[in-house]
Amino acid sequence: MLIRKLKHRLAKIREKIWPTGFDGWLRIYPTLRCNLNCTYCVHSHNLPASSADKYQLLPWQKWAEFINQAGKNVIFTGGEPFLYPDFVKLLNAISAGIKVKIYSNFGADMQDYIKNCQRPVIFFGTYHPASGPVGKFIETINALRAAGKFQGSIHMVGWAKQLDYITKAQEEFTRHNWYVYIDDDQYLQDDSSGMKFKKKVRCTRRIYLLAPDGRRYLCISKLLRQKDALGNVLETGLGVDQVAMECQEYGYCNPCDKLGETKIVLVKE
Ligand code: SF4
Ligand code: SF4
Repeated sequence: MLIRKLKHRLAKIREKIWPTGFDGWLRIYPTLRCNLNCTYCVHSHNLPASSADKYQLLPWQKWAEFINQAGKNVIFTGGEPFLYPDFVKLLNAISAGIKVKIYSNFGADMQDYIKNCQRPVIFFGTYHPASGPVGKFIETINALRAAGKFQGSIHMVGWAKQLDYITKAQEEFTRHNWYVYIDDDQYLQDDSSGMKFKKKVRCTRRIYLLAPDGRRYLCISKLLRQKDALGNVLETGLGVDQVAMECQEYGYCNPCDKLGETKIVLVKE
């Protein structure tokens, strides 16, 4: 357990010292719908301007065809990916040589996945206090483990307002032989996501953030607001890893937009 913890810390330090650029994983948001409504959700951050609920979802066959052609590893995130219709069919249609990671809160019905998923996936599972009692969440991940369908890690957000609750939950996970990583609360990173000012910058990123309709965005903030799309990858292909854009809205970034290699340079007027 100590070794895993040390490895996790080292990876975090390495990220800060040697930003490696595009890491070979496409981030796909098959749906932005979620079964939870966490107080600290970074998606509610841009809520006044968000049009996340207005996305048309692509059929699973289109995603599968695109992913197999692109030949890159995939991270499914959201929202809750298991709320995407036919998600398990999509997983099964992805070529065996492509690695798949899934961010999930395990609050959707996991029976279809347990019974029918035929490929390995790596989970980045998160327990949120909004999920209800820890015991219920542990039952779900125990069922996945018992079926041989759990590989990956479990996390919680180190939300400052609920540290007591988080500590108690962590103890319960430990009692049931689960190690839980406590991740940084992204809201505390800096003021670029405070929506208190707008500054003009040149923003450069090496990351593929693909919206539910296949459009690529430079950042999560713009993806949630459907603003300044970089084109639809199903029509144009992946394009270049690194994209630079002049942006008038530094200050309206999403709390997670500093993750992945991001370079922001203030433009002097
Ligand atoms: S589970 Fe994740 S996406 Fe859903 S509300 Fe909570 S933080 Fe947001
Ligand atoms: S400066 Fe912020 S809002 Fe603008 S593109 Fe970059 S991450 Fe997005």
